[in-house]
Amino acid sequence: MFIVWGRKLVYRKLGHVADFCPICRKPRPFALQRIGSAGHVYYVSVSQGELVGFERTCLKCRTVYNAEPTHYAKVVPKLLPWNDMVRQTFPNLHEAWADRLALEQQVRDNPHTLSAQDRHALIRNPFLLLSPKVEKQFASTHMDKEVGFALLGAVALLVTVPAIAHVIAPDEGGLGVLVALGLGIALVVWQMAMTGGRFMRRQVVPVLAQCLQPLQPTPGELQAVMAELKTLKHKMGTKLKLPELYAQLKMKARGSAG
Ligand SMILES: [Zn+2]
Repeated sequence: MFIVWGRKLVYRKLGHVADFCPICRKPRPFALQRIGSAGHVYYVSVSQGELVGFERTCLKCRTVYNAEPTHYAKVVPKLLPWNDMVRQTFPNLHEAWADRLALEQQVRDNPHTLSAQDRHALIRNPFLLLSPKVEKQFASTHMDKEVGFALLGAVALLVTVPAIAHVIAPDEGGLGVLVALGLGIALVVWQMAMTGGRFMRRQVVPVLAQCLQPLQPTPGELQAVMAELKTLKHKMGTKLKLPELYAQLKMKARGSAG
């Protein structure tokens, strides 16, 4: 018998904390997780594993950051009303993040008074923060609902095409199965090739646009960041389509103006 075993990452929920989210540009509630590396047999592991690190996930934009649980006064098991959440988990949040919060106030009130250096850093930052999410997505193949529909379509083709072929040409039964199989595989492969683009459009571009919108970045500023990402070999540099980002930024600008 073939036994599947090895090590895998085990994520264990520790609770919730308040902290600053640079993508939302605001203090937010976070879910705190412990990451361990544990032995598994058939992907089942019983221990929480050796400590690899901690991460916090913003409950609003779902961006994941490294975390250090000792930074917090307490980790609460359930979400609390916001003021209680801050008081209990990160009572000096506003002092600890004072400089950044002042900068964010300037971003909201008057983004064009920022120094060129601050603007560049603030525009570049969300790309770098979202880059690990993009790298993770493109490191392995993923299913989304369209791939699921393509698989269902392939099954439907395998049922219907040979049946139709049998009526038209009863002697060529095998050909119908081959045609259905070929069409089904082509359909699934085509949809799998599109998953990356859909992921960027649904899970990266809207988050980036939401984050960048208050800065009203120019195409030149965005192109400069993309060129830098390409040079540094971030997947984001090639997978992100700037026209899609421009379109979302325009939509959000209209939304906030209207
Ligand atoms: Zn966030």
